Amino acid sequence: MSLIVMKFGGTSVGTAERIRQSARLVVEGAQQHQVTVVVSALSGVTDLILRSVTAARKGAESDVESLLREMEVRHQTVMDALLEGSEREPVRKQVHGVIDEFRSFCRAVLLLRSTTPQVLDVALPMGEEMSAYIFAATLRQLGAKGEFVDSSRVLLTDDRFGDASPDMEGTRRNAVEVLLPLLQAGSIPVVTGFSGANSKGQPTTLGRGGSDSSATIIGAALDCDEVWIWTDVDGVLTADPRICPGARSLPEITYAEAIELSYYGAKVIHHKAMRPVMDAGIPIWIKNSFQPRAVGTKIAAVRTADQAASSPVKAVTAVVPASLVTLTTRSDMHYAEVFGRLFLRFGHDNTDVLFSTQSSSENSLGLVLRDAETEHVSAALHKLFRVELKHGVLDPIRIRRDIAVIAVLGETMRGTAGVLGRLFTAVAGRNVSVIAVAQGASELNICFAVEALRAADAVRAVHDEFLGRDAGQEQRWGLGSSQSLKSGV
Ligand code: ASP
Ligand code: MG
Repeated sequence: MSLIVMKFGGTSVGTAERIRQSARLVVEGAQQHQVTVVVSALSGVTDLILRSVTAARKGAESDVESLLREMEVRHQTVMDALLEGSEREPVRKQVHGVIDEFRSFCRAVLLLRSTTPQVLDVALPMGEEMSAYIFAATLRQLGAKGEFVDSSRVLLTDDRFGDASPDMEGTRRNAVEVLLPLLQAGSIPVVTGFSGANSKGQPTTLGRGGSDSSATIIGAALDCDEVWIWTDVDGVLTADPRICPGARSLPEITYAEAIELSYYGAKVIHHKAMRPVMDAGIPIWIKNSFQPRAVGTKIAAVRTADQAASSPVKAVTAVVPASLVTLTTRSDMHYAEVFGRLFLRFGHDNTDVLFSTQSSSENSLGLVLRDAETEHVSAALHKLFRVELKHGVLDPIRIRRDIAVIAVLGETMRGTAGVLGRLFTAVAGRNVSVIAVAQGASELNICFAVEALRAADAVRAVHDEFLGRDAGQEQRWGLGSSQSLKSGV
């Protein structure tokens, strides 16, 4: 029997009805496969935890109490609608036990008025803990042997609290010890997503949206056949349907394309989630739990040949807002002397640059960043180059806000002549002026910056040119696409 790891995101377990539907998908899958489930918290619950902790840090006791109430009511409503008979009381106790624990946690923070990433990682996994209790019970109600499994028993990580990475060898050992016996006994383990534990047994989390990674890490550790990510869109789309009504889901993309796509704004899968399964070549499927019959998108090492022929461009995304930071050195300086130190610093700080351009004749370096990174990068640059700026070795740092980065992606652009020409002709046809451009040597993506206000026009220009016209369908845009909001491609 093949082994599938199924991950359900927050919207797929957002309400009693969603949980019931998702549990049915598991039971259905379990007729043909061995299934391990990984769940996210009910949608919005991780945010609720963070808001409560923030309120506690500020000493806002009554806010903390009302947020805790909200969390309680949310879960109680779901349990009331979902659980019957003998499942009801024990699960209620488990869930309220978690909330009581979180209440104590908040009390401690109210006293201390501070937290650290390590301390936060004690509270952050609690949303997943509650949803996994509820999900496992729902499976049992449907006649399957759902079994709650705390990820701290399986997923071994390093010590980087808030953004931990897996120790694959240790996780494999744990998976064999904890999950395999359950699977062999015909149970369906329901593992809490998002978190794990370090070698001392202290809880860690994998970063926001980390449940996708939990699924692929556990999938790789179990040497599973496929990982299915159940979400609320029909797979990976060619563009954000709010911008391009003609956007459609891609039947197949490669791991490399999926990483690029998620890095540049597509929200269907976390960019770190591909790593664990890439080496083993385990395919990932993105499926819509609201439309389970839709095929979805397969993410694998290579795509089938006929598709490669269709279009060199697979998808277009936009990162808005972004900013452009320009550094210019005096002409008698070698730029590398200055810029070398800069990238070393970025490495230490884990600063993500969307793309950069460097021109030797102008002695300048352009850094395109997510807008949220601008302030701290600017502060870091002014500190790092204090002396150079003071003595005019570097010109004053220029910062331009309100730009957007358009990323055009597709592995088959490599070796296809004329893509750049077509691309920028199409963009120019909409009268959009391009501020900066980069095409990676891997030719996997082309990134360019435009004014933020023109981002949608640029995306449409590219989509029309390479992925089919959506002219005449503009009216549909904005109507009834709430389900697509999360696709964010
Ligand atoms: N619940 C966590 C979050 O919202 C993890 C996840 O859903 O992937 O970030
Ligand atoms: Mg989530």
